[in-house]
Amino acid sequence: MTYVIGEPCIDVKDRSCVDVCPVDCIHEVGRMLVIDPEECIDCGACEPECPVEAIYPEDALPAKWEKFTAINATWRDGAEAVDRRVEAHLTGDDVPAQR
Ligand code: SF4
Ligand code: SF4
Repeated sequence: MTYVIGEPCIDVKDRSCVDVCPVDCIHEVGRMLVIDPEECIDCGACEPECPVEAIYPEDALPAKWEKFTAINATWRDGAEAVDRRVEAHLTGDDVPAQR
């Protein structure tokens, strides 16, 4: 499993979570931060640090932010790919995961 950062991080980006992650798997993109699911060791250290409660275990992510599991995982395709998905989310357009 992994932890996932959801919509509240957008344009907040205070980076409290980054400081506590033992494996440095939280990465900054244009308007938010995302967790690389390949690197996350599921320790839970980041969750209580977020002032806007944006971080959840994947299986507890609120349904309204379901899309953010894929948005975080898009890190494997690079920051620009994540940025495109975030913008698509904010404008209501879905884009294919591999674009
Ligand atoms: S759960 Fe642990 S390893 Fe995963 S992003 Fe949070 S602090 Fe990092
Ligand atoms: S602590 Fe929360 S708002 Fe701040 S960067 Fe991490 S996920 Fe985003």
